[in-house]
Amino acid sequence: MDRWMICDSGHVHWGAHGASGLLLKFTPPDGEPCYLLQQRSRWVDHPGSWGIPGGAMRAGESPEAAAFREADEEIGPVPRYRITGIDAQDCGGGWKFYTVCADVDRAFSAFCVQETDATGWFTREQMRTLHLHPGLQRWFEEHV
Ligand SMILES: [Zn+2]
Repeated sequence: MDRWMICDSGHVHWGAHGASGLLLKFTPPDGEPCYLLQQRSRWVDHPGSWGIPGGAMRAGESPEAAAFREADEEIGPVPRYRITGIDAQDCGGGWKFYTVCADVDRAFSAFCVQETDATGWFTREQMRTLHLHPGLQRWFEEHV
């Protein structure tokens, strides 16, 4: 099951098989794309920062399946979405975080079920005032 592991670069990571998160995007017909972010609870790493729902992948689980399962656990039911891409970020020591990108048809209301203090939809501009999780910050700098 889930456990801490030490990668080839000596980092300590949660999840022996890597981790995965779900980045949902809604583009209004006449507006800027916005993304569903989750403010992380105090008792997870990078507490209080804004990231995306996600967590450790189980043995044999795909990044898509893990991202869906974790989102469901953390922010409640997610409406139907279309996966548009999966990006793997390697920490440099062989451990990977997968960002599963998907489009939804509306900015639905997410819940705070587990490990989540708040949720919200933000444009890239609005994110500039948020304290983003460093992994998500890097992802946006490289992709959007
Ligand atoms: Zn590492």
